[in-house]
Amino acid sequence: MTKLLPAFDKLLAARAGKAKGHVWLVGAGPGDAELLTVKALRLISSAEVVVYDRLVSEEILALIPSAALCIDVGKQPGSHAMAQTQINQLLVELAAAGQQVIRLKGGDPFIFGRGGEEMLALKEAGIACNIVPGITAATGCAAATGIPLTHRGLAQSVRFITGHGQQGLPQLEWQSLRDPRQTLVFYMGLTWCEALSENLRTAGRRANTPVAIIERGTRSDQRVITTTLKQLAETAARERPQSPALLIVGDVVALYDATSTFTPSASKAAIDCAEMPLSVIR
Ligand code: SAH
Repeated sequence: MTKLLPAFDKLLAARAGKAKGHVWLVGAGPGDAELLTVKALRLISSAEVVVYDRLVSEEILALIPSAALCIDVGKQPGSHAMAQTQINQLLVELAAAGQQVIRLKGGDPFIFGRGGEEMLALKEAGIACNIVPGITAATGCAAATGIPLTHRGLAQSVRFITGHGQQGLPQLEWQSLRDPRQTLVFYMGLTWCEALSENLRTAGRRANTPVAIIERGTRSDQRVITTTLKQLAETAARERPQSPALLIVGDVVALYDATSTFTPSASKAAIDCAEMPLSVIR
């Protein structure tokens, strides 16, 4: 890592010298700051202007230099603090004014993150933009719970699906989701979990298919609730999981072991390097 960083520094310095206004669409991952990419960490820790949203964890926001201008465009579930068109406009204006803008988004910018829309708005305005991928909630939550999304003999493929459409329940081709050997991961699926469960069972998914609800995955207060497709709505009503939460549906969920060490705090204890990345950089 120490050998790599000077190379990153050189690369970024060369880019910064050339760029006038520029936007970096940066994936912040699911919450655990140690899951940031080296590139994201480097950009965040030298940021001058950061535009961030609700899913970016406190732990990651704390890495932004105190002198940086931070703009919260946070969206609460169901009510948008700032409309997407306004966010696009803000990014364009900041970059047009010559700023190097870090647009920090939860997870990966291109997975249900509307990063594509921001990229296109910037392109239309002639603003240079680069994308830094992040660990998406599905893979972060899978790792933090020990639920493999694919597994020989159990799941040969995985689908990332939005559980929330523009008008509520998403218009999905339910029949295409019936294969028992395909793991389904629903983002934003809590609100409509009853309808999701019904539609999947009507399409042919077994009523006893295991389901995991992962609340605040990878964060120190992560909670995992397991249930079945049939009991999903009842479980959600009883346990009241809070956003952000993800649904994993499929036989791989049976591999979840609540007594295992796949917890965010355990993985941190195992690699005791919370201060390491920044001290290396500084
Ligand atoms: N771009 C993001 C997804 C944004 S959509 C990504 O790649 O992860 C927002 C949804 O992501 C939430 O409603 C929730 O379903 C999921 N999500 C994001 N972070 C999460 C986390 N830490 N734990 C569980 N689900 C999460």
